[in-house]
Amino acid sequence: MRVGIGYDIHQLVAGRPLILGGLEIEFDRGCKAHSDGDVLLHAITDALLGAAGLGDIGEYFPDTDPKWKDADSGDLLKEAWKHVRRRGWEVENIDCNIIAQVPKLKPYKSQMEARIASLLEIETRRVNVKARTNEGLDAVGREEAIATQAVVLLKPAQ
Ligand code: MG
Repeated sequence: MRVGIGYDIHQLVAGRPLILGGLEIEFDRGCKAHSDGDVLLHAITDALLGAAGLGDIGEYFPDTDPKWKDADSGDLLKEAWKHVRRRGWEVENIDCNIIAQVPKLKPYKSQMEARIASLLEIETRRVNVKARTNEGLDAVGREEAIATQAVVLLKPAQ
């Protein structure tokens, strides 16, 4: 088995849709980013690459490359997962945290789990999404950013 960790944080800005866990969330701001800014999928992508010993998201999809401008982070996740799977791994489980003061994400958690599982073509029960605030502290608590963490456990494919 191999474990991987992922972390990401993006600034919240006006005039952008909020894309999280592959879903568009109703909110008046979105994540500033070169891609679509899906801060949760970025952390999961990094955790998958990390578990397989394949580096990090920035090596595969540099934000200096115009090719990834406004890229669908679901596509980036699928592409990274292809590399990991090719190395003979499958997912035992994925657990993640979304740390956001706003908006309320509870109604979206199970939909995000289903969406992430479908992007990876794995069972939904293998994905867990948790959401919490930052108790009003720091940039996340001031509603200036959303942060995420993910851990992935890989096992050899059957
Ligand atoms: Mg990111």
